[in-house]
Amino acid sequence: MNETTRDDVQQAAGRASLDPQDWSAFRALAHRMLDDTIDSIANVRERAVWRPIPDRVRAQFHADVPRDAADLGEVYREFASAIAPYATGNVHPGFMGWVHGGGTAVGMLAEMLAAGLNANLGGRDHMPIEVERQVVEWMRRLYGFPQTASGIFVTGTSMANLMAIVVARTAALGALARQHGIGHDGALLTAYTSKAAHGCISRAMDIAGFGTDALRKIDVDADHRIDVAALRAQIAIDREIGFRPFLVVASAGTVDIGALDDLTELAALCREENIWFHVDGAFGALAIMSPALAPRLAGIELADSIALDFHKWGQVPYDAGFLMVRDGERHREAFAQPAAYLRREARGLAAGAVWPCDLGPDLSRGFRALKTWFTLKTFGTDRLGAAIARTCELARYLEARIAAEPRLELLAPVNLNIVCFRYRAADADAINREIVADVQESGIAAPSSTTIDGRFAIRAAIVNHRTDVADIDALVAAVLDFGARRSGDGLIETEAPPLAAQ
Ligand SMILES: *Cc1c(COP(=O)(O)O)cnc(C)c1O
Repeated sequence: MNETTRDDVQQAAGRASLDPQDWSAFRALAHRMLDDTIDSIANVRERAVWRPIPDRVRAQFHADVPRDAADLGEVYREFASAIAPYATGNVHPGFMGWVHGGGTAVGMLAEMLAAGLNANLGGRDHMPIEVERQVVEWMRRLYGFPQTASGIFVTGTSMANLMAIVVARTAALGALARQHGIGHDGALLTAYTSKAAHGCISRAMDIAGFGTDALRKIDVDADHRIDVAALRAQIAIDREIGFRPFLVVASAGTVDIGALDDLTELAALCREENIWFHVDGAFGALAIMSPALAPRLAGIELADSIALDFHKWGQVPYDAGFLMVRDGERHREAFAQPAAYLRREARGLAAGAVWPCDLGPDLSRGFRALKTWFTLKTFGTDRLGAAIARTCELARYLEARIAAEPRLELLAPVNLNIVCFRYRAADADAINREIVADVQESGIAAPSSTTIDGRFAIRAAIVNHRTDVADIDALVAAVLDFGARRSGDGLIETEAPPLAAQ
């Protein structure tokens, strides 16, 4: 009675597939989505950089579980009206907050193509994996790493830094530590980075089981670069009292002001001390593509590992983090795992070791490599490097505007593409905090903020290839305008900001 016949299943099958019933209607709608998306990138300047999310829009997203099917056109309308207008704004040339990449239309298309293939890059023998290996090879060549180096795409540099710490740990303690845990020996391992390093290094030490106390944060010089003499001294002290220094994390582009540690000197120190030398090059490392900037990265070719993001200066859409390890064997030693269902074969689909799942914690992985491959091939590293160099030129232009404007002051040296400044006022910290929010809410520009030597700073990180002189002028004008209003007699026009109201 309960026997399933071929006919029963055959009849049910038509209802199970999630493919469109009407492909031509689907195609028409798909083309509209593509056209709208291209329009929104092409006409990005006509919109506000960012706008606050209205309460009614936010409330829409506390709906019940959608048990019943809905019309795709309806769902798309909801996307177009409630999601797209309230995105971060980093596609916009006026976006200068944090370190956000602008993406490109080419990268958007590649994401669509990758989704169409729906490839799983955990392993097995298929061309998408060769695309990832091709990008790894390009990176090896760019950074002068040996043939034996390995690389892998990950979500972002936070993950890449964490993985580098795990590789360095396994290199220091041996592969048995994967079985026994870090134990007593591991509790003695100490790592080093500068006080200006990204917070994810500290978090990675925590997640990797060392605890944040095992990370020594070394002082920086006036240019926010790690004080190598102080680092050397701290390593000596730690050895003296029985610790085992195992890792130095250098910053190639600090997140606050874009400072570059002296990589050559750090590489020499690490070699002398037999310490793993990792470079956090989240955004800065890709400056290697600019002949003018590449010399600033001298020494990066000596690193044991490099973490970087293609989704920042590389202009690849989110997310596209990357880790490269000089000694691929060490990399595999830290993550490879035998499992019967992941057995590798000499031929067939299960061939083609080393698989990416041997190089990181993820098994199922998307095709991040494709949008990066498309971006690198379509534009070429020269043009991408020129876009990077251009953002640094714009930063120097902003620096010059600040220098020429008595109401503004520069708070940190401009190393690359990041400018920290503020409006001069009596209660400067409070007023500049308001100015940042005012400028963001105006829709004119989106700077972020930081604290430099205890002083609140407006921070403009110019990362987007679309940003131009006019966007810098608009930022300066907006800061001066809101600054004057905030430091004036307290009469502040907060309603109907110029662009966000449209
Ligand atoms: C952005 C950044 C990170 C974190 O990278 P994610 O891709 O956001 O995880 C780490 N270090 C530096 C210097 C960064 O700029």
